[in-house]
Amino acid sequence: MHKFEEVECAICKSQNHFEVSKKGQHNIPINLVLCKDCGLGYLSPRWNADSYFNFYSKEYDSYYRPSLIAEINTANPENNAIIRRFQKNNVLPESPSAILDIGSGAGENLLNIQKIFPNANLFAIEPSQESQQNLIKNNIEVISSDANSDWDKGKEGKYSLIILRHVLEHFLNPAEVLRKIQASLSDDGFLYIAVPNNLRPTKNLETKWFRVVHTYYFNKYSLKNTLHKSGLEAIIMQEGDELNNHELFTIAKRSEKPLETKISSSHFEEQKKVFIDGLQNDRKPIQRLKSNLLNALGKS
Ligand SMILES: [Zn+2]
Repeated sequence: MHKFEEVECAICKSQNHFEVSKKGQHNIPINLVLCKDCGLGYLSPRWNADSYFNFYSKEYDSYYRPSLIAEINTANPENNAIIRRFQKNNVLPESPSAILDIGSGAGENLLNIQKIFPNANLFAIEPSQESQQNLIKNNIEVISSDANSDWDKGKEGKYSLIILRHVLEHFLNPAEVLRKIQASLSDDGFLYIAVPNNLRPTKNLETKWFRVVHTYYFNKYSLKNTLHKSGLEAIIMQEGDELNNHELFTIAKRSEKPLETKISSSHFEEQKKVFIDGLQNDRKPIQRLKSNLLNALGKS
């Protein structure tokens, strides 16, 4: 059985929250709340660290990566969103010596990036035992199975590129992991983060968008605040593009000086409206029918 813990807002420490929903994907119950002071979305009470770690080690792949063992697609690195977004913004590092992907899965991103930077050494942090086997087979060094471990010790300034692709929203303590990342980035290194954009969610919030594995629900305000708390500065922050309209991505660097957080209840009101409108829309008979049909056809 899962054990639960209550948490406060990871940005402003407030416990003043608004309850959004108790329903998540795969019918796994959740407690999604929004901080009334800063608008950060998060689960509370949520599973404790042991419950999550067991889930990620043993069950996560069967829910979310059913085709893991099949060939991973590295056919065309130009199709890789990370590379395209760096190139488009003209900020790709020139010759990165060490690249770290946290929550790498089987290594698709790293193998794509290797085609552009064949001399870079590749590193991964990944809890799934099956994924780890794939990584090792592809000469990617698995430095830890847990982003919360002391993987950063002795790695100060080591990495010229760190990737967090749809990973930050899974952490139990995002700011703490970002501080480790900040310390292990080189002075001219880049951090790439992509998360679901909660100001532009897809339909079917309670059967698709809200998930027990998503402990945090970021938007452009809360992602920026979370970066700032960890000494990281976004040089690019973009809400969606032609590759994915529901994604929020950022390219960040170490900051020379501490950065302020901007706490505003207007950010809460904006996020609340998006979720309330979305939930109302999902409950309309025609949308329910569509959702049920797609479910029956196995397309949801
Ligand atoms: Zn808050």
